[in-house]
Amino acid sequence: MDPKRFGFLIDPIYDAHETEEEHPECARRIRAIQAGLDSHRFGPMFKRFQAGSADMDAIQLVHSKEYIQEFRSACQSGLSYFHSYDNCISEGSFEAACHAVGGVLGHLEAVMAEEIDSGFCAIRPPGHHAERNKAMGFCYFNNVAIAARYLKSRYSVEKVLIVDFDVHHGNGTQHIFEEEPSVFYFSVHEHPSFLFPGTGRRSEVGIGAGKGFTLNVPMPPSTGDDRVLPAFDYALEQITEVFKADFVLVSAGFDAYEHDPLAHLNFTEKAYEHFGRQIGAYARAFSKGRVISVLEGGYFLPKLGDLCMAYIEGLVHTL
Ligand SMILES: [Zn+2]
Repeated sequence: MDPKRFGFLIDPIYDAHETEEEHPECARRIRAIQAGLDSHRFGPMFKRFQAGSADMDAIQLVHSKEYIQEFRSACQSGLSYFHSYDNCISEGSFEAACHAVGGVLGHLEAVMAEEIDSGFCAIRPPGHHAERNKAMGFCYFNNVAIAARYLKSRYSVEKVLIVDFDVHHGNGTQHIFEEEPSVFYFSVHEHPSFLFPGTGRRSEVGIGAGKGFTLNVPMPPSTGDDRVLPAFDYALEQITEVFKADFVLVSAGFDAYEHDPLAHLNFTEKAYEHFGRQIGAYARAFSKGRVISVLEGGYFLPKLGDLCMAYIEGLVHTL
């Protein structure tokens, strides 16, 4: 595809979510991605976006009014944590989280208005661990889950595929959609181990009408490209047989990288380019090339920008 038809959202508003010294989910992550973007040959070609704030109705597509209010109050009253010691907050965290959701929804709107064909949202805080009414694992609002609901409610998009290649299982996203046959959740992640959050077994396949629309591909510690790439391809083939999505959302986490400090998988840059190519091929075949990727984890800052760009290069090549 023409890189000029690819959107890239990056915004200094996310600095407002301050975490304590040494916390891996820090504002420097977005600067690392900015550096990767600036040094890549595609960087100047992408259509740049900044984030608007999401309105409360959109966030309430997934989270309750009470939960949203509780999070807002915690930030306003100067608390340092919300729901667990993993979840640092600052006065600006609520605003940043609303702009994370808003950034992603703005990107969806740009795709639906055909201003761009697909795009990447370098947002924080991340979202895939956030449950309906519980903050977990550095996540407060489930950005991708809200995006899926928004596509369905605002644009009547029927079928959404969510691909999650963050090293951690996206417990929140799985739980939100596990009873629904119209949103397919596919996750590849590290497991079994003591790794957070502990969900994501192969036996978790969805519930009731949603049975068969959740696919978990757990990878044991030390797994590298040689094992994950065929497993990823095989899983996408399986999905192709049962689910042809109208839109693809990606929880793009880069913490399965070999030097990431938070986990024990050994993916290289090549794996992320491969994911991009394969997701792009699926989207081109079934979803009119519509893929929005949303940043989740990724904590090895010297390479984070390169990993994002390798993934995007794979996507752009194929779409
Ligand atoms: Zn992660």
